[in-house]
Amino acid sequence: MREHLVEDAYTCASCGFCRFGCPVYREIGFEGASARGRMYLLKRVFEGKLGYTERVVDSFYMCAQCQNCKQLCPTGIDFGEDVAILKEMFVREGKLPSYLFPLRDNVIEKGNPFGKDAEERGEWLPGKYQTPEPSEYLYFAGCSASYASTRIAKSIVKILDQIEFDFTVLGKEESCCGSPLERMGEITKAGELMEKNMEKFKELGVETVIVSCAGCLKTFTHSYPKDFKVLHVTQLFDQLMREGRLEFQKELDKKVVYFDGCDIGRHCGIYEEPRNILRSIPGVKLIEYEYSREDALCCGGPLASSQPDLAHKIASSRVREAKELGAEIIATACPTCMVNLKEGAKLIQIEMEIQDIPMLLPKFLKKG
Ligand code: SF4
Ligand code: SF4
Repeated sequence: MREHLVEDAYTCASCGFCRFGCPVYREIGFEGASARGRMYLLKRVFEGKLGYTERVVDSFYMCAQCQNCKQLCPTGIDFGEDVAILKEMFVREGKLPSYLFPLRDNVIEKGNPFGKDAEERGEWLPGKYQTPEPSEYLYFAGCSASYASTRIAKSIVKILDQIEFDFTVLGKEESCCGSPLERMGEITKAGELMEKNMEKFKELGVETVIVSCAGCLKTFTHSYPKDFKVLHVTQLFDQLMREGRLEFQKELDKKVVYFDGCDIGRHCGIYEEPRNILRSIPGVKLIEYEYSREDALCCGGPLASSQPDLAHKIASSRVREAKELGAEIIATACPTCMVNLKEGAKLIQIEMEIQDIPMLLPKFLKKG
Protein backbone atom coordinates (compact mmCIF):
# COMPACT_ATOMS: atom_id res chain seq x y z
CA MET A 1 0.00 0.00 0.00
CA ARG A 2 2.82 2.39 0.92
CA GLU A 3 4.49 1.51 -2.39
CA HIS A 4 1.35 2.57 -4.23
CA LEU A 5 1.40 5.96 -2.48
CA VAL A 6 5.11 6.43 -3.14
CA GLU A 7 4.61 5.56 -6.80
CA ASP A 8 1.77 8.08 -7.16
CA ALA A 9 3.61 10.83 -5.29
CA TYR A 10 6.63 10.53 -7.60
CA THR A 11 4.51 10.04 -10.73
CA CYS A 12 2.76 13.36 -10.14
CA ALA A 13 4.05 15.78 -12.76
CA SER A 14 2.94 18.84 -10.74
CA CYS A 15 0.99 20.07 -13.75
CA GLY A 16 -1.89 21.29 -11.61
CA PHE A 17 -4.63 20.14 -14.04
CA CYS A 18 -6.33 18.42 -11.09
CA ARG A 19 -7.04 21.76 -9.45
CA PHE A 20 -9.64 22.76 -12.00
CA GLY A 21 -12.21 20.13 -11.03
CA CYS A 22 -11.45 19.95 -7.33
CA PRO A 23 -14.49 21.26 -5.45
CA VAL A 24 -12.43 22.05 -2.36
CA TYR A 25 -9.63 23.85 -4.18
CA ARG A 26 -12.16 25.82 -6.26
CA GLU A 27 -13.82 26.99 -3.06
CA ILE A 28 -10.88 27.84 -0.84
CA GLY A 29 -8.12 28.37 -3.42
CA PHE A 30 -5.57 26.74 -1.17
CA GLU A 31 -2.91 24.64 -2.91
CA GLY A 32 -2.79 22.18 -0.02
CA ALA A 33 -6.43 21.32 -0.75
CA SER A 34 -5.69 20.09 -4.26
CA ALA A 35 -4.37 16.67 -5.29
CA ARG A 36 -1.15 18.35 -6.44
CA GLY A 37 -0.65 20.03 -3.07
CA ARG A 38 -1.21 16.80 -1.20
CA MET A 39 1.13 14.91 -3.51
CA TYR A 40 3.76 17.44 -2.53
CA LEU A 41 2.99 16.83 1.17
CA LEU A 42 3.32 13.07 0.64
CA LYS A 43 6.72 13.48 -1.01
CA ARG A 44 7.89 15.57 1.96
CA VAL A 45 6.67 12.82 4.30
CA PHE A 46 8.45 10.09 2.31
CA GLU A 47 11.64 12.13 2.31
CA GLY A 48 11.47 12.47 6.10
CA LYS A 49 10.97 16.26 5.99
CA LEU A 50 7.46 16.17 7.40
CA GLY A 51 5.42 13.88 9.63
CA TYR A 52 1.75 13.01 9.58
CA THR A 53 0.95 15.96 11.82
CA GLU A 54 -2.62 16.91 12.71
CA ARG A 55 -2.62 19.53 9.92
CA VAL A 56 -1.37 17.06 7.33
CA VAL A 57 -3.92 14.44 8.40
CA ASP A 58 -6.69 17.07 8.32
CA SER A 59 -5.77 18.09 4.81
CA PHE A 60 -6.41 14.52 3.60
CA TYR A 61 -9.73 14.39 5.45
CA MET A 62 -10.69 17.56 3.59
CA CYS A 63 -10.76 15.59 0.32
CA ALA A 64 -14.29 14.63 -0.76
CA GLN A 65 -12.92 11.61 -2.70
CA CYS A 66 -15.06 12.82 -5.59
CA GLN A 67 -12.71 11.42 -8.28
CA ASN A 68 -12.82 14.54 -10.42
CA CYS A 69 -9.04 14.88 -10.29
CA LYS A 70 -8.69 11.33 -11.61
CA GLN A 71 -10.60 12.45 -14.72
CA LEU A 72 -8.23 15.32 -15.28
CA CYS A 73 -4.89 13.81 -14.33
CA PRO A 74 -2.72 13.10 -17.40
CA THR A 75 -0.70 10.53 -15.43
CA GLY A 76 -3.81 8.63 -14.32
CA ILE A 77 -3.35 9.12 -10.58
CA ASP A 78 -6.41 8.00 -8.61
CA PHE A 79 -5.99 10.40 -5.74
CA GLY A 80 -9.31 9.43 -4.09
CA GLU A 81 -7.96 5.88 -3.79
CA ASP A 82 -4.72 7.20 -2.25
CA VAL A 83 -6.79 9.09 0.31
CA ALA A 84 -8.72 5.91 1.16
CA ILE A 85 -5.42 4.08 1.78
CA LEU A 86 -4.15 6.93 3.95
CA LYS A 87 -7.33 7.19 6.00
CA GLU A 88 -7.21 3.47 6.79
CA MET A 89 -3.62 3.94 7.94
CA PHE A 90 -4.52 7.02 10.03
CA VAL A 91 -7.25 5.02 11.81
CA ARG A 92 -4.83 2.13 12.49
CA GLU A 93 -2.37 4.63 13.97
CA GLY A 94 -5.04 6.34 16.13
CA LYS A 95 -4.96 9.55 14.08
CA LEU A 96 -8.65 9.83 13.20
CA PRO A 97 -9.51 13.55 13.64
CA SER A 98 -11.51 14.06 16.83
CA TYR A 99 -14.31 15.92 15.02
CA LEU A 100 -15.20 12.56 13.44
CA PHE A 101 -15.54 10.72 16.78
CA PRO A 102 -19.28 11.48 17.30
CA LEU A 103 -20.12 10.33 13.77
CA ARG A 104 -18.03 7.17 14.16
CA ASP A 105 -19.52 6.36 17.58
CA ASN A 106 -23.10 6.91 16.42
CA VAL A 107 -22.68 4.56 13.47
CA ILE A 108 -20.95 1.88 15.54
CA GLU A 109 -23.24 2.08 18.57
CA LYS A 110 -26.59 2.95 16.98
CA GLY A 111 -26.21 1.76 13.39
CA ASN A 112 -26.82 5.24 11.94
CA PRO A 113 -24.91 8.57 11.79
CA PHE A 114 -27.61 10.51 13.65
CA GLY A 115 -27.41 8.58 16.93
CA LYS A 116 -31.12 7.70 16.68
CA ASP A 117 -32.66 4.50 18.02
CA ALA A 118 -33.04 1.50 15.71
CA GLU A 119 -36.76 1.38 16.61
CA GLU A 120 -37.26 4.77 14.94
CA ARG A 121 -35.67 3.55 11.71
CA GLY A 122 -38.84 1.87 10.49
CA GLU A 123 -41.32 4.52 11.62
CA TRP A 124 -41.80 5.92 8.10
CA LEU A 125 -42.94 2.56 6.75
CA PRO A 126 -46.58 1.84 5.94
CA GLY A 127 -48.02 -0.95 8.14
CA LYS A 128 -47.87 -3.75 5.60
CA TYR A 129 -44.10 -3.34 5.17
CA GLN A 130 -43.27 -3.17 8.88
CA THR A 131 -42.17 -6.81 9.03
CA PRO A 132 -39.57 -7.95 6.49
CA GLU A 133 -40.80 -10.84 4.33
CA PRO A 134 -38.85 -13.20 2.05
CA SER A 135 -38.58 -11.57 -1.38
CA GLU A 136 -36.38 -11.43 -4.47
CA TYR A 137 -36.21 -7.62 -4.17
CA LEU A 138 -35.37 -5.58 -1.11
CA TYR A 139 -35.52 -1.80 -0.86
CA PHE A 140 -32.62 -0.72 1.36
CA ALA A 141 -33.66 2.79 2.46
CA GLY A 142 -30.34 3.79 4.06
CA CYS A 143 -29.88 6.10 7.04
CA SER A 144 -30.77 9.46 5.43
CA ALA A 145 -34.05 8.32 3.89
CA SER A 146 -34.96 6.31 7.02
CA TYR A 147 -34.48 9.11 9.53
CA ALA A 148 -34.06 12.51 7.88
CA SER A 149 -35.36 12.57 4.29
CA THR A 150 -38.21 10.10 4.77
CA ARG A 151 -40.21 11.58 1.87
CA ILE A 152 -37.76 9.88 -0.50
CA ALA A 153 -38.35 6.46 1.04
CA LYS A 154 -42.12 6.99 1.31
CA SER A 155 -42.34 8.03 -2.36
CA ILE A 156 -40.44 4.94 -3.50
CA VAL A 157 -42.64 2.59 -1.49
CA LYS A 158 -45.76 4.42 -2.77
CA ILE A 159 -44.70 4.11 -6.41
CA LEU A 160 -43.69 0.45 -6.15
CA ASP A 161 -46.83 -0.35 -4.21
CA GLN A 162 -49.02 1.36 -6.79
CA ILE A 163 -47.63 -0.74 -9.65
CA GLU A 164 -47.82 -3.89 -7.49
CA PHE A 165 -44.09 -4.51 -7.55
CA ASP A 166 -43.19 -7.27 -5.10
CA PHE A 167 -40.48 -6.23 -2.62
CA THR A 168 -39.60 -6.10 1.05
CA VAL A 169 -37.96 -3.59 3.40
CA LEU A 170 -35.83 -4.23 6.49
CA GLY A 171 -37.17 -1.23 8.43
CA LYS A 172 -35.91 -1.27 12.00
CA GLU A 173 -33.80 -4.35 11.22
CA GLU A 174 -31.73 -2.37 8.71
CA SER A 175 -28.28 -1.07 9.76
CA CYS A 176 -26.16 1.59 8.14
CA CYS A 177 -24.53 0.17 4.98
CA GLY A 178 -21.10 1.11 6.39
CA SER A 179 -20.41 4.01 4.02
CA PRO A 180 -19.68 6.70 6.67
CA LEU A 181 -17.21 4.38 8.43
CA GLU A 182 -15.57 3.38 5.19
CA ARG A 183 -15.18 7.04 4.19
CA MET A 184 -13.32 7.81 7.40
CA GLY A 185 -11.07 4.73 7.15
CA GLU A 186 -12.79 2.57 9.81
CA ILE A 187 -12.76 -0.41 7.48
CA THR A 188 -13.01 -3.18 10.09
CA LYS A 189 -16.01 -1.62 11.79
CA ALA A 190 -17.65 -0.97 8.39
CA GLY A 191 -17.15 -4.66 7.59
CA GLU A 192 -19.08 -5.64 10.75
CA LEU A 193 -22.11 -3.63 9.60
CA MET A 194 -21.86 -5.14 6.14
CA GLU A 195 -21.95 -8.66 7.61
CA LYS A 196 -25.01 -7.77 9.67
CA ASN A 197 -26.90 -6.55 6.58
CA MET A 198 -25.71 -9.48 4.49
CA GLU A 199 -27.12 -11.93 7.04
CA LYS A 200 -30.57 -10.32 6.73
CA PHE A 201 -30.44 -10.40 2.92
CA LYS A 202 -29.58 -14.10 3.04
CA GLU A 203 -32.35 -14.88 5.55
CA LEU A 204 -34.91 -13.29 3.22
CA GLY A 205 -33.54 -14.82 0.01
CA VAL A 206 -32.87 -11.39 -1.49
CA GLU A 207 -31.37 -11.40 -4.98
CA THR A 208 -31.52 -7.68 -5.79
CA VAL A 209 -31.01 -4.77 -3.41
CA ILE A 210 -32.59 -1.48 -4.49
CA VAL A 211 -31.07 1.68 -3.03
CA SER A 212 -32.00 5.34 -3.18
CA CYS A 213 -28.83 6.71 -1.60
CA ALA A 214 -25.81 7.00 -3.88
CA GLY A 215 -23.47 6.43 -0.91
CA CYS A 216 -25.20 3.08 -0.25
CA LEU A 217 -24.97 2.32 -3.98
CA LYS A 218 -21.23 2.92 -4.01
CA THR A 219 -20.67 0.85 -0.87
CA PHE A 220 -22.85 -2.08 -1.95
CA THR A 221 -21.29 -2.06 -5.43
CA HIS A 222 -17.64 -1.81 -4.45
CA SER A 223 -17.32 -3.15 -0.90
CA TYR A 224 -19.95 -5.87 -0.31
CA PRO A 225 -19.48 -9.46 -1.52
CA LYS A 226 -20.96 -9.91 -5.00
CA ASP A 227 -23.69 -12.23 -3.69
CA PHE A 228 -26.58 -10.06 -4.92
CA LYS A 229 -27.36 -7.51 -7.59
CA VAL A 230 -27.50 -3.82 -6.69
CA LEU A 231 -29.77 -1.35 -8.44
CA HIS A 232 -30.17 2.34 -7.84
CA VAL A 233 -33.85 3.18 -7.77
CA THR A 234 -33.43 5.31 -10.92
CA GLN A 235 -32.16 2.19 -12.73
CA LEU A 236 -35.16 0.21 -11.52
CA PHE A 237 -37.63 2.95 -12.50
CA ASP A 238 -35.98 3.30 -15.92
CA GLN A 239 -36.31 -0.47 -16.41
CA LEU A 240 -39.97 -0.40 -15.31
CA MET A 241 -40.64 2.47 -17.73
CA ARG A 242 -39.18 0.46 -20.61
CA GLU A 243 -41.40 -2.50 -19.61
CA GLY A 244 -44.41 -0.16 -19.71
CA ARG A 245 -45.12 -0.65 -16.00
CA LEU A 246 -44.32 2.94 -15.02
CA GLU A 247 -45.64 5.97 -16.90
CA PHE A 248 -46.03 9.63 -16.10
CA GLN A 249 -48.90 11.75 -17.34
CA LYS A 250 -49.28 15.08 -15.53
CA GLU A 251 -47.30 18.01 -16.96
CA LEU A 252 -44.33 19.57 -15.21
CA ASP A 253 -43.66 22.68 -17.25
CA LYS A 254 -40.27 23.50 -15.73
CA LYS A 255 -36.59 23.70 -16.59
CA VAL A 256 -34.93 20.90 -14.65
CA VAL A 257 -31.21 20.32 -14.28
CA TYR A 258 -30.03 16.89 -13.15
CA PHE A 259 -27.18 16.99 -10.65
CA ASP A 260 -24.69 14.15 -11.25
CA GLY A 261 -23.61 13.15 -7.75
CA CYS A 262 -20.10 11.66 -7.58
CA ASP A 263 -21.10 8.36 -5.95
CA ILE A 264 -23.78 7.50 -8.51
CA GLY A 265 -21.86 9.08 -11.40
CA ARG A 266 -18.09 8.74 -11.44
CA HIS A 267 -18.05 5.95 -8.82
CA CYS A 268 -20.85 3.79 -10.31
CA GLY A 269 -21.16 5.01 -13.90
CA ILE A 270 -24.90 5.81 -13.81
CA TYR A 271 -25.68 8.89 -15.91
CA GLU A 272 -28.53 8.15 -18.30
CA GLU A 273 -31.24 6.48 -16.21
CA PRO A 274 -31.99 9.52 -14.00
CA ARG A 275 -32.13 11.69 -17.15
CA ASN A 276 -34.45 9.19 -18.90
CA ILE A 277 -36.88 9.41 -15.98
CA LEU A 278 -36.88 13.21 -15.95
CA ARG A 279 -37.35 13.36 -19.74
CA SER A 280 -40.34 11.03 -19.48
CA ILE A 281 -42.30 13.52 -17.37
CA PRO A 282 -44.40 15.49 -19.87
CA GLY A 283 -43.37 19.15 -20.17
CA VAL A 284 -39.97 18.84 -18.48
CA LYS A 285 -37.20 20.75 -20.23
CA LEU A 286 -34.05 18.96 -19.17
CA ILE A 287 -30.99 21.20 -19.19
CA GLU A 288 -27.37 20.41 -18.38
CA TYR A 289 -24.73 21.89 -16.12
CA GLU A 290 -21.69 23.20 -17.97
CA TYR A 291 -19.77 20.33 -16.35
CA SER A 292 -21.85 17.18 -16.19
CA ARG A 293 -21.67 13.38 -16.27
CA GLU A 294 -18.00 12.30 -15.78
CA ASP A 295 -16.92 15.95 -15.51
CA ALA A 296 -19.55 17.02 -12.97
CA LEU A 297 -18.37 19.09 -10.04
CA CYS A 298 -19.02 17.64 -6.57
CA CYS A 299 -21.56 19.38 -4.27
CA GLY A 300 -19.35 18.79 -1.22
CA GLY A 301 -21.87 16.32 0.22
CA PRO A 302 -19.26 13.79 1.39
CA LEU A 303 -17.87 16.50 3.68
CA ALA A 304 -21.25 17.53 5.09
CA SER A 305 -21.03 15.55 8.31
CA SER A 306 -17.40 16.37 9.05
CA GLN A 307 -16.93 19.91 7.67
CA PRO A 308 -20.42 21.32 7.14
CA ASP A 309 -19.40 24.94 6.51
CA LEU A 310 -17.08 23.95 3.69
CA ALA A 311 -19.63 21.47 2.30
CA HIS A 312 -22.40 24.09 2.25
CA LYS A 313 -20.11 26.64 0.62
CA ILE A 314 -19.25 24.16 -2.15
CA ALA A 315 -22.95 23.34 -2.56
CA SER A 316 -23.84 27.02 -2.89
CA SER A 317 -21.61 27.22 -5.98
CA ARG A 318 -23.52 24.34 -7.61
CA VAL A 319 -26.83 26.08 -6.80
CA ARG A 320 -25.59 29.40 -8.20
CA GLU A 321 -24.46 27.66 -11.40
CA ALA A 322 -27.91 26.05 -11.76
CA LYS A 323 -29.59 29.42 -11.25
CA GLU A 324 -27.38 31.02 -13.90
CA LEU A 325 -28.46 28.28 -16.32
CA GLY A 326 -32.07 29.23 -15.72
CA ALA A 327 -32.93 25.99 -13.90
CA GLU A 328 -36.12 26.03 -11.84
CA ILE A 329 -35.54 22.63 -10.25
CA ILE A 330 -32.34 20.79 -9.36
CA ALA A 331 -33.09 17.07 -9.43
CA THR A 332 -30.79 14.78 -7.46
CA ALA A 333 -30.44 11.01 -7.11
CA CYS A 334 -29.02 10.99 -3.59
CA PRO A 335 -30.39 12.34 -0.30
CA THR A 336 -26.94 13.62 0.72
CA CYS A 337 -26.65 15.75 -2.42
CA MET A 338 -30.24 16.98 -1.99
CA VAL A 339 -29.82 18.03 1.63
CA ASN A 340 -26.42 19.60 1.04
CA LEU A 341 -27.60 21.55 -2.02
CA LYS A 342 -30.55 22.83 0.00
CA GLU A 343 -28.11 24.05 2.65
CA GLY A 344 -26.06 25.69 -0.12
CA ALA A 345 -29.14 27.50 -1.45
CA LYS A 346 -29.98 28.68 2.08
CA LEU A 347 -26.46 29.97 2.57
CA ILE A 348 -26.62 32.31 -0.42
CA GLN A 349 -30.38 32.89 -0.12
CA ILE A 350 -31.21 31.64 -3.60
CA GLU A 351 -34.75 30.41 -4.21
CA MET A 352 -34.43 27.03 -5.86
CA GLU A 353 -36.55 23.90 -5.77
CA ILE A 354 -34.22 20.98 -5.00
CA GLN A 355 -35.81 17.55 -5.08
CA ASP A 356 -34.61 14.00 -5.14
CA ILE A 357 -36.05 12.25 -8.22
CA PRO A 358 -38.30 9.77 -6.33
CA MET A 359 -39.89 12.70 -4.47
CA LEU A 360 -40.80 14.39 -7.73
CA LEU A 361 -42.57 11.41 -9.23
CA PRO A 362 -45.71 10.30 -7.32
CA LYS A 363 -47.93 13.17 -8.47
CA PHE A 364 -47.02 12.58 -12.15
CA LEU A 365 -47.58 8.83 -12.05
CA LYS A 366 -50.17 7.46 -14.50
CA LYS A 367 -52.75 5.55 -12.54
CA GLY A 368 -53.11 1.95 -13.84
S1 SF4 B 1 -10.84 13.55 -5.08
FE1 SF4 B 1 -12.09 15.42 -5.43
S2 SF4 B 1 -11.92 16.60 -3.52
FE2 SF4 B 1 -10.24 15.07 -3.50
S3 SF4 B 1 -8.48 16.17 -4.39
FE3 SF4 B 1 -9.50 15.07 -6.07
S4 SF4 B 1 -10.91 16.58 -6.95
FE4 SF4 B 1 -10.30 17.35 -4.91
S1 SF4 C 1 -3.18 16.36 -12.48
FE1 SF4 C 1 -2.12 14.53 -11.73
S2 SF4 C 1 0.01 14.85 -12.36
FE2 SF4 C 1 -0.98 16.84 -12.53
S3 SF4 C 1 -0.59 17.82 -10.51
FE3 SF4 C 1 -2.56 16.78 -10.36
S4 SF4 C 1 -2.09 14.77 -9.48
FE4 SF4 C 1 -0.16 15.64 -10.26
